[in-house]
Amino acid sequence: MASWVFCNLCFQPPHRKSSFSLTSCGHVYCDSCLRKGKKDECLICQVPCHTVLLSKHTNSNIQAFFLSIDGLCKKYSQETSQISDFQEKHRRRLVAFYQEKVNEIKLFLLYLFDL
Ligand SMILES: [Zn+2]
Ligand SMILES: [Zn+2]
Repeated sequence: MASWVFCNLCFQPPHRKSSFSLTSCGHVYCDSCLRKGKKDECLICQVPCHTVLLSKHTNSNIQAFFLSIDGLCKKYSQETSQISDFQEKHRRRLVAFYQEKVNEIKLFLLYLFDL
């Protein structure tokens, strides 16, 4: 996990034996601090919240918050180029279709006016 990640209550960084959770209010807790609070209530905000365990299996949108800036740029530049390639392919196919139609009309006009 990124070097800036720490438990918002005991300020311990993550280590192999601890798991960390993220609350819907944006706080990060180690598992022992999380157990100190009430279920579904943030110890800091003291408001109802839900928690997500941070692991390799966590939703990638949540994992993205913990990516390094390098990793973040890589992820989104890959996604952006994938999407723009996808759209470009469709655009090209449509243009090719119209080009074909234009050529057919041209040929028809040549034939019609015996040019
Ligand atoms: Zn803690
Ligand atoms: Zn909170």
